[in-house]
Amino acid sequence: MKKPTRNTPAINYTIVGKDLAAHLFEVTLTVADPAAEGQVFALPAWIPGSYMIREFSRNIVRIRAESNGQPVALIKLDKHSWQAAPVKQGALTLHYEVYAWDLSVRAAHLDQTHAFFNGTSVFLRVLGQEDAQHVVDIQRPADPAAATWRVATALPELKAKRYGFGTYAAANYDELIDHPVELGDFALATFKAHGIPHDIVISGRVPNLDMARLCADLKSICETQIAFFEPKAKKAPMDRYVFLTLAVGDGYGGLEHRASTALICSRADLPTLAKAKDKDVSDGYMQFLGLCSHEYFHTWNVKRIKPAVFAPYDLQVENYSPLLWLFEGFTSYYDDLILVRSGVIAEPAYFKLLGKTIASVLRGSGRTKQSVADSSFDAWGKYYRQDENAPNAIISYYTKGSLIGLAFDLTIRAKTAGKKSLDDVMLALWDRYGRDFYKGVGRGVTPAEVEALFDEISGMRLKSFFEKYIRGTEDLPLAKLLAPFGIKYSDERKSSKPSFDANVGRDGNDCKLSAVHEGGAAHKGGLSAGDVLVAVDGLRVNATNLDNLLSRYAVGDSVEVHAFRRDELMTFKVKLQGDRVPGITLALDAARKKTGPLRPSAAR
Ligand code: ZN
Repeated sequence: MKKPTRNTPAINYTIVGKDLAAHLFEVTLTVADPAAEGQVFALPAWIPGSYMIREFSRNIVRIRAESNGQPVALIKLDKHSWQAAPVKQGALTLHYEVYAWDLSVRAAHLDQTHAFFNGTSVFLRVLGQEDAQHVVDIQRPADPAAATWRVATALPELKAKRYGFGTYAAANYDELIDHPVELGDFALATFKAHGIPHDIVISGRVPNLDMARLCADLKSICETQIAFFEPKAKKAPMDRYVFLTLAVGDGYGGLEHRASTALICSRADLPTLAKAKDKDVSDGYMQFLGLCSHEYFHTWNVKRIKPAVFAPYDLQVENYSPLLWLFEGFTSYYDDLILVRSGVIAEPAYFKLLGKTIASVLRGSGRTKQSVADSSFDAWGKYYRQDENAPNAIISYYTKGSLIGLAFDLTIRAKTAGKKSLDDVMLALWDRYGRDFYKGVGRGVTPAEVEALFDEISGMRLKSFFEKYIRGTEDLPLAKLLAPFGIKYSDERKSSKPSFDANVGRDGNDCKLSAVHEGGAAHKGGLSAGDVLVAVDGLRVNATNLDNLLSRYAVGDSVEVHAFRRDELMTFKVKLQGDRVPGITLALDAARKKTGPLRPSAAR
């Protein structure tokens, strides 16, 4: 981006929910000093944190330009850019409408129940003036449904009361689009974590929400993370933080930002006052806390410590990085670890989560074909565009990346007799690349710098580790690495249980194969993902009874399978095999040492 001149006037937007039932935002954008050759505007094609081209501009339904009360011609340059005709004098104003009906954390959503938007969906970028101040007037919709709405965002207020409608300001475009905004009648509570106010905002109907418990648990998680990155100063990198949460019947997702996160969760995952005395952490609540922990950890890891190719982002095209195993994988490693370090969950619950992650990595043969470096690089076309063949073709840089974090952690702790750990590597990354990122000196970190830093901090030569597990596809020797820490690793897969080695999904009352594992019984018998199973040895298969039917057979038996492929009935002979789903359990033995990853390393 261009260096700002001292007097660059602010870019001004207004945004209002114009027609809640039609899901339309109306946006105006005024540029005081448009480019002489004709101002160009562009909407991002993707949103940072979610690595897929989404073409947000397809939701702009009407757009026009004017200056001094006169229409100005707009030419479409490409799928997400427009150029206005040159304006001799005065400001240039765009008026446009954005259709907002994507109930996710990645885009925008508007109806009578609430409004949510990311700047990437609604704010056109003024090319060449990205470094100017960007001011947004967030206006209350005229619809009576919005009469009592409030505003939740980490965007700094300019002329607005906290939670009120009015003007908000960002120092530049990059900051403007990094503060999602929620409007509605949400539940709200505030707690302080090491002196910094944190808002928890819950939109959507949640009867008997136990906000006090949520605040207490999030406070523990946030304080643990602040102290993780700044063990001495215990200083958070932002002035305030907002958890924007939308509770729905069934949903899960989160997206990180520099001073907030947007989350979607299932209503049932949130704690209820009806069970306020019961301090057990349900699986759903643990998942929600894990999600909060994950997005919060990104405040440091990816929002400030960044791959060099994200500094700055190019919002019009794919930004390829081979490092998502570090930015997403290590964040996934620490999200659950922080839950146990902060005391929110107990050690056995943590080991159960870890066992599940290991099993999911070992499940698919894709792990033998794609490295996490390649998985990171190809996130745009592969991880984010998974199809039925994904288990056979790709590996997740989240799950395997988190196990790489564990393997590094155990390796460094073992070699340094517990003096150093992965924590020290994260701290060095923070120190050199993260802390001052928004002070205008941030340039991100390159893959070569990451590798050199691992060697330097650990005092080891880790090149072969990178070759085998990051650029290569070898399985991590976790059983061997865990043993010195008194953690026993066992695989209790039910190899005597007869199986097709395929994933099945429900399709109404039908049993539809959602994935067929390469080399497994279904594959060898000729079945394909998408086939609808009709009968096994003449007995009808429905959405839920396949395991039951197969339980009357032994591994090695052959069965006749009738299945529909499209609308054609086909017959297959399938030789049943033992279940190949890994069942990883981790257990502490009595002689465990105190240097395990559950605690910070001795040097800290
Ligand atoms: Zn993440």
